[in-house]
Amino acid sequence: MRLGVSAAVVDGTLIEGDVTIDGDSVTAVGVAGGGHGVAVPGFVDAHINGIAGVDFLSADAGGHARAAEALAAVGVVAYQPTLVSSLPGAYDAPLAAAAAAMAAPRGGARVLGVHLEGPFLSSKWPGAHDPSNLREPDAQLADRLCRAGPVTTVTLAPELDGGLELVQRLVRQGITVSVGHSDADAATAHAAFDSGARAITHVHNAHRRWRPRDPGPAGVALVRPDVWVQAIVDGVHLAPESALGAFLAAGRRFCLVTDAVEAAGMPSGSYRLGDRDVHVADGAVSLADGTLAGSVLTMDAAVRNLVASGAALADAVHAASTAPAQLLGRHELGVLEPGVAANIAVLNDELEVERTVVGGREAFAAR
Ligand code: ZN
Repeated sequence: MRLGVSAAVVDGTLIEGDVTIDGDSVTAVGVAGGGHGVAVPGFVDAHINGIAGVDFLSADAGGHARAAEALAAVGVVAYQPTLVSSLPGAYDAPLAAAAAAMAAPRGGARVLGVHLEGPFLSSKWPGAHDPSNLREPDAQLADRLCRAGPVTTVTLAPELDGGLELVQRLVRQGITVSVGHSDADAATAHAAFDSGARAITHVHNAHRRWRPRDPGPAGVALVRPDVWVQAIVDGVHLAPESALGAFLAAGRRFCLVTDAVEAAGMPSGSYRLGDRDVHVADGAVSLADGTLAGSVLTMDAAVRNLVASGAALADAVHAASTAPAQLLGRHELGVLEPGVAANIAVLNDELEVERTVVGGREAFAAR
């Protein structure tokens, strides 16, 4: 099949011409006689709590299917359903539901595994997490949660008692560890990254602030060449200059995430994030006291926002697809070239998603 595009972003370069697909793989790029739109590697969202009225803490099979479809419609081909800090007994059902969605994809974007954001987070930086759900690092609880479902990423605060040991324990199990909701100073952040943590969660949000003589986890993550920097570029969590500054510092290590909640793609009003009530108005999601509580961002909008901040399209696409795929060790994603699986988004001139292909199959087409 031909995609009918006029160009494709291949290894960071815009290549004129069409893209052909046979079965589940890309067979050629730069094919003469294309149409319109640009094919890019499909987006990978490492941090998403919900979308289209579906909260991954309470989603059943039907909810996961609706979310996968809504994600394909914004160019996402793969994602990590993300669970906010919850009581220990509240994880089993959502982990089982995510495992089922992962084992039997029904079309749409595919589940890569679950991101546990917490519960081993700093009570100094809870953000929208219910402080009563936060726990000190607990190897037994961590092991139990990781056995209960396909956990692929854990966000934690390494400065807590036992935090560095927990980083090492999770890394030994092949889990990606990201530092977030943390009061770590620079030395502790370095120790966490030396112990195998590979990323910072929503940079400049809900962690020890970056100060001239106290750079905290953000200051360390931005300058370490082995750490990926995840950012919510929605114009609410980061001013455009802050987003661009982090992007310029992190370069190929910069990852766009949405941290979206179920209200993404829905009208303003009242919604849930786990067991908390949140309110959506003017593109911001907050608790009653005004604390930001996730976003209504979608990955295509994040790409547009980063481009509007001053990034080149190919670099914004890298941040939305290749960088998160590399962070998660999923090297079959985030690439568009002959011989690789066809996981592609087609963008129009306004950088809106016209079409999404997942594993060679059309998962979304704008009508
Ligand atoms: Zn968070």
